[in-house]
Amino acid sequence: MSENTVLITGASRGIGAATARLLASQNYNICLNYHQQRNAAVQLSEELTKAGCKTLILQADISQEDQVTDMFRKIDTAFGSLTHLVNNAGILKPQMRLQDMSAERINQILTVNVTGYFLCCREAIKRMSTANSGKGGAIVNVSSVAARTGSPGEYIDYAASKGAIDTLTTGLATEVASEGIRVNGVRPGFIYTDMHTDGGEPGRIERLRPAIPMQRGGQPEEVAAAIAWLLSDQASYTTGSFIDLAGGK
Ligand code: NAP
Repeated sequence: MSENTVLITGASRGIGAATARLLASQNYNICLNYHQQRNAAVQLSEELTKAGCKTLILQADISQEDQVTDMFRKIDTAFGSLTHLVNNAGILKPQMRLQDMSAERINQILTVNVTGYFLCCREAIKRMSTANSGKGGAIVNVSSVAARTGSPGEYIDYAASKGAIDTLTTGLATEVASEGIRVNGVRPGFIYTDMHTDGGEPGRIERLRPAIPMQRGGQPEEVAAAIAWLLSDQASYTTGSFIDLAGGK
């Protein structure tokens, strides 16, 4: 069995699924978290298992503390120790101006995109930290270029949640740097996944394409490559850093 075990939250689709495929080819044991789309997670797990990878499918809503702690306990049982975490699961809501946003909507965004990331980081560092007799590890938080742009007129709540993830990444990287854990972030933008449909505009990338310096959207695999590098020993002296994957935006 591989010595590297990674949990990827939101691995059923999009960037999470692309990351799972790439890390499977790099000899990680893969823990696939999903929320609702069980069939997609099962199909991906079968694909990776056929390719010789050890997988574990984990249904959990990352915004729920008991579900997160239970998920990490299942990983302990299956693989012994978690070495890598990709905090990737995220949501956004239909585009609107701030003046029309309800507290319910804002809180849903924040509990998944912020609280969920904090809880998964907490459980991961408890296990990885050399201060707790862990072997160290690496975490990548999937933020967004929206953390820099603020997404005016579309979803400032989502953008602000990603700003919080950048701050989490910076603070936690420093807090655990001497405990063998590296924490970095990626900031994608304009990636072809289902997420834009959730925002109410499936064709959003085509609308924005002329304003993207590289004049095209990105593929989930292009984000996965950066995540895999930040997790790997090739990035052994990199912590508290961010890679932007937004075509020059
Ligand atoms: P996606 O295709 O919509 O997939 C979202 C994933 O998150 C799914 O696997 C979903 O699980 C999971 N998820 C949603 N709510 C969850 C919850 N409460 N608990 C656990 N899992 C949950 O999204 P994506 O575009 O790949 O986005 C992945 C990450 O990249 C997100 O953090 C997003 O903010 C960020 N990002 C994306 C873009 C872009 O252009 N696509 C740009 C910047 C940043 P189910 O399938 O089970 O529902």
